[in-house]
Amino acid sequence: KLFNQVQEARGNIRVFCRCRPLSKTEHVAGCASVVDFDAAKDGELGVLIDVFADAAPMVISVLDGYNVCIFAYGQTGTGKTFTMEGTEANRGVNYRTLEELFRISKERKDTCTYNISVSVLEVYNEQIRDLLATETSKKLEIKQASEGFHHIPGIVEAKVENIQQVWNVLQAGSSARAVGSNNVNEHSSRSHCFGLWTWLEVRLAKTDVQGDRLKEAQNINRSLSALGDVISALANKSSHIPYRNSKLTHLLQDSLGGDSKTLIGVELGPARKQIDTNELQKLKTMLEK
Ligand code: ADP
Repeated sequence: KLFNQVQEARGNIRVFCRCRPLSKTEHVAGCASVVDFDAAKDGELGVLIDVFADAAPMVISVLDGYNVCIFAYGQTGTGKTFTMEGTEANRGVNYRTLEELFRISKERKDTCTYNISVSVLEVYNEQIRDLLATETSKKLEIKQASEGFHHIPGIVEAKVENIQQVWNVLQAGSSARAVGSNNVNEHSSRSHCFGLWTWLEVRLAKTDVQGDRLKEAQNINRSLSALGDVISALANKSSHIPYRNSKLTHLLQDSLGGDSKTLIGVELGPARKQIDTNELQKLKTMLEK
């Protein structure tokens, strides 16, 4: 309860911003860093612990029955995976949050029974695909069962009892993701993928793409601008929140609005070449809100 009061006092939508240091390649290429930050503090653990301090109370909220959404946003190569997944030696937000989830649910086992399950799906070209399903052609739709409860009938829900099981399920799911290549990033995956957490990959608008890849880029931009519109409408306390403008925002409806709690990590690369002035302006507006 105390955590929830603190959360409420601090707002239901919170944004943290993390900037990675210049990479070796950027150093070698003589790229200028245009972001002023304390690199020493950002090291391997410093900032991650700050980020986790914001994420940890959200676990309690989940177990208290709130909808919670934690996601990272940023161009490819800016540190989304580093922050969310991390490495074995330096676990990211996902692992630490799950560890906390299982720890607290065990702590409460005398008073509560929790059934924890994982679904993994992706939104690709405005179509929802169940990444755990054996039959992948099944058409999935978002349905509203009651106020504040959207679900996807027929989606596979894998029951999990420990972090290793979550890991196995997510590994299985992520290998089924739609991954292609484009002119900017060979291995950039361009789907939105949901499990107990979300990956959100942004492709540059200036990427030179054609045909199917162009359609894909347009759909990704559509999901992302719809997400921006929803966050702005929520921040402005608008009477109409345009959740239905994309599958991504429709899916996240219960996790973004109402009394749900959202933690957004905005990931940045510090090199001048990564700056898109339009994007920078949008980011400034988002952070100000
Ligand atoms: P994304 O998932 O956004 O495409 P990655 O997480 O893969 O980006 O990060 C790109 C590269 O930058 C990786 O080699 C990663 O180890 C490194 N990196 C990202 N964030 C940091 C950070 N805060 N400190 C040090 N290295 C980082």
